[in-house]
Formats: sequence, C-alpha cells, structure tokens
Amino acid sequence: MKTNYYDYIIVGSGIAGLYIALLAIERGSVLVLTKGSIDDCNTKYAQGGIAVAMGKDDSPELHFKDTMAAGAGLSDAEAVCILTEEAADCMADLIKFGVPFDTLNGEITLTREAAHSVSRVMHAGGDATGEHIEVTLSREVRAAPIKVLENCLATEILVQKGKVVGVKALDCQTGSVDDYVCNSLILATGGAGRLFKYTTNSDVVTGDGIALAFEAGAEISDMEFFQFHPTVLRLPGVAPFLISEAVRGEGGILKNVEGHRFMPDYAAKAELATRDIVARSTVREMKKTHSDRVFLDVTHLPSRLITTRFPHIYRFCRNHGLDITKGLIPVAPAAHYLMGGVKVNSWGETNIPGLFAAGETACTGVHGANRLASNSLLESVVFSKRIVERTKTSASPESCQPSAVSRPCCLPEREALPKVPSLTVPNLQSLMWDKVGIIRSGKSLEEAAGIVATWESCLPQPGDRPSYELNNLVLCARLVTEAALLREESRGAHFRTDFPQTSPEWQKHIVFRKNAVK
Ligand SMILES: Cc1cc2nc3c(=O)[nH]c(=O)nc-3n(C[C@H](O)[C@H](O)[C@H](O)COP(=O)(O)OP(=O)(O)OC[C@H]3O[C@@H](n4cnc5c(N)ncnc54)[C@H](O)[C@@H]3O)c2cc1C
Repeated sequence: MKTNYYDYIIVGSGIAGLYIALLAIERGSVLVLTKGSIDDCNTKYAQGGIAVAMGKDDSPELHFKDTMAAGAGLSDAEAVCILTEEAADCMADLIKFGVPFDTLNGEITLTREAAHSVSRVMHAGGDATGEHIEVTLSREVRAAPIKVLENCLATEILVQKGKVVGVKALDCQTGSVDDYVCNSLILATGGAGRLFKYTTNSDVVTGDGIALAFEAGAEISDMEFFQFHPTVLRLPGVAPFLISEAVRGEGGILKNVEGHRFMPDYAAKAELATRDIVARSTVREMKKTHSDRVFLDVTHLPSRLITTRFPHIYRFCRNHGLDITKGLIPVAPAAHYLMGGVKVNSWGETNIPGLFAAGETACTGVHGANRLASNSLLESVVFSKRIVERTKTSASPESCQPSAVSRPCCLPEREALPKVPSLTVPNLQSLMWDKVGIIRSGKSLEEAAGIVATWESCLPQPGDRPSYELNNLVLCARLVTEAALLREESRGAHFRTDFPQTSPEWQKHIVFRKNAVK
C-alpha cells in the first residue's frame, strides 16, 4: 500500500491535470492517472485560444465585465476577479514551459471572439492552440520526475473519516484494480460532452470525475448549464469538427440553406452574439427550412487570411473535399462545454477535505449560466495554480464551505417506467440530444428524467472501461436533466419553451449532494 502513496494524485491529463502536475512536483511526489493515452483529452482540440487582458485597450476590469455579462447573473464575482487578474501570471508559466503562442514583431498576437469587447485571445499555430498546449505540457511532464499511468481509469474515490485518502483505479489493459493513496486528490477529468448525440468532445469526456465526486459525497452544481457550440461541421460520414468562434470573429457570416443571412434577424450583434443565442437561432432556421444544417460563409474574406489564420480548419475541410475559401461550410450546433460540475471554492477545494477539482470538471463559478469563449483554458490554469498554492500552505487541506444561498439537495426519487428503450450509449445520447438539448421543455425533460431514472435503477455492475463510462454518463444525465427540470426559467445556455423568460427568483444555483438532508 505504502508504495502507492503520493503527495498529489491527479486524475486526468488535459491542460488542468498536466499544469497542476508541473507545479506540484516542486512541492512533493506526483502521480497522474489517465484513462487513455496522455494526450486523449479535449484540450488538444481547442482552437480559438486563451483569453487574457493584455492588449493596450484592455484591462482585467474589462475582461471581468465581459465575463460577468456572459454569465447571465450567475457568475461568481470573486471567482471572475481572480480569473481575470491572475491570468497574466499563468500565461507567463505556459510561455516558460514552452507553449509557442503566435507573435508578430515579437509581440503576442491577440484575436477577437464573440462577446469579448476587444481582441484578447492568445493563440498558437493559428487555430491549433490546444494541440500546442497539450504537446508542450505532456513533453514537460515526461521530462519531470512525475509518474504517469496511462490506460488507468479512476473508478472510486477513497474516503476515510470524512477525508479523501486516495483513489481506486482500473488498469484497462490488465484488468487489475489498485488503490492509490495520497494527501491531495485532484480531479481534472474534463466535462461530459459525450452525453449528447452531437458533440465536439473527445470520446474520453464522459463525466467520470463528476460521477465519482457525487458518489463520494461532493457537491455538484449548475449541471443544467451545458453550452452548445453553434458552428460544428456537419458533413455526412465526418465526425463533428469544430469551426472556431474566431472564424465569425474574423468576419464569417451564417446563412440558412436558402442563402439568407439570418443572424441579424435575431440579434443586434448578429454573428457575434453569445453562443447560446447563435445556437438557438440556428436551430430555429434549420427547423424553418427543414434542414439539418446551415452554412458558414467565409468566401468573401481574403484566402490568405483564412489559410494563415485558420490553417487547421482549412486543412481539415480540404481533406474532406471542401475548399472553404471558395465554398460554404455546412454547420450545425453540437454539445461543447459543461459550465457546471464539482463545486469548488476559489482554491479548488470541494466540500470533502483532501478532494480538489480543476478544469472543466470543476464548477468554480466563473462561467455562471454561459461561458465566454476562450475562458475555459484560462480557468483551468488559474484555478489549478491556486490548488497547488493552497496545498503548499495547508498540510491538511480544508474544504469548501456549504453555500449559504443554495443548500444542496438530493436527486428526486422517481418511479421506474414500465417500458423504456434499452440502455446503450447511442440511446442515451439521442435521448439527451432530443429531450435535454438546446431547446428544452418541462414535458421533454420529464420524459427524459423518467427514462434515465429507470436506466439508473437497473445499471449493471461495471467491470471494464465502457461499463464504468456508461454508468457515469447515466448519473450525469440524471443530474443535468433534474437540474434543468428544477430551473423553471430560461437563462444563459438553459432555455425552456415553457419558461422562456429569466426570473429574478432563479438567480441562484442548483446544487446536488448524494447524502443531503431531504
Ligand atoms: C473542439 C473544442 C474546442 C475548444 N476550444 C477552446 C478554446 O479555444 N478556448 C478555450 O478556452 N476552451 C476551448 N475548449 C474547451 C477546453 O478545451 C476544455 O474546457 C479544456 O481543455 C478542458 O481541460 P481539462 O484539463 O479540464 O479536461 P480535458 O482536456 O478534457 O482532459 C480530461 C482528462 O481526464 C481524463 N479522464 C477522464 N476521466 C477519467 C478517469 N475516470 N480516469 C482517468 N482519467 C480520466 C481524460 O482521459 C483526459 O486526459 C474547446 C473544447 C473543444 C472540445
């Protein structure tokens, strides 16, 4: 048992996990567990970049203002202040580790994205920011005395006397299960995009950290807020591929299949409106025109701008027979980012001592009801750094105090339905897309909640990676659906046809905890 002891155990090897590992190794021994290979994650797919207020016309205050506005009344001001003020310091770390951000005449180049007041998004390799980050950080981790176990799936958080003491993990190649013991356990397992039929997310993103934390008694917040990206390539036989927000930022326009530019009909900011508005407007246009797609048009932009600013997107489309400098790009919305997750305080601490969460799996409160583009990579590093700071100063970590405004509640009990579709990942993803997707209603959510609860009541005992992932997806589906049902209003990314307005009564968070008092 003692040989499996580490000061820090980090679950996940995206930007959050690797960045923490590189900082934590200065303080003690570090183990990174990751269920695939080191670079299986969402991070490597990030295109647009990282938002940091460093331009001459920018300031952390302005970045704060934009982030708070996007969050639709639910962003935590203290967390957003930390995010925007500590951003530059974390960027200096990334540069020190070797991330090759794009420069012009020695100055970092900044681009503009929807709902940002100014250009403030740093990028690398044009639109290959995430790949550069992942490659750089994993190279640094490999070179440091950090133990990395690939194909190792965390299956249970070990808690003793109310404190987290480690994690149980399955070696996906040999099938053996081991306990790993630590002082600080950090979940950096990403979001839950694989809940939905159409998603930009990697297939490793199955909500594992959220499910494990919930089972261990951690608070889970804001699960109803799932961001759908409006422009994801929709080509037959091609997996969903993100067409970055920055393409609209550079002047790309959206047209329906009849050739009409529709965004000005819906929002004054047209294509630069927030993602939720563009995604919903797109769904409405698709319905109106009986089509499963709209088009993104960049043919009016200089070809050189497209090929140099978006080389990755240009190449990907060209490899699938589409020259985007000459032809329209077929796109449709897809699930992209989970604003909710494991509730943490501004030091990344959960309500269970010894358990931390970082990156997309955490709910720090910065995104509120809607994430501002390019704030998630930033959130991953800013709050990861604070976890290491916190564990440096406190040998026995404290825990996140229960929120005064939102008392945690239990998942409601539901009767099993007599007849439901069989439980498979595609059936679950279709159900979530159709009933709990971009446009929801009480009726569709009730239907989904009943089916998911029935599935939950007869889950098989998990034994391998697919079965653990399926169980985790079912639990996350329940959390998302029940939270969406409870929230009887529309706000940010959560839209209900039966409650289309934002209600001041709902300016609060929905927090679930397994053993909360009913
Ligand atoms: C296509 C795309 C484009 C994006 N573009 C941007 C952008 O331009 N700017 C921006 O700010 N954000 C962007 N985002 C969002 C951003 O990339 C993610 O929020 C961020 O990368 C999440 O990092 P992470 O470290 O939290 O998780 P991930 O990078 O998803 O990594 C999660 C890790 O956890 C591991 N894991 C999961 N479960 C287990 C388990 N049970 N046991 C062991 N390991 C486990 C996974 O294998 C993986 O290594 C984009 C996302 C996508 C999908």
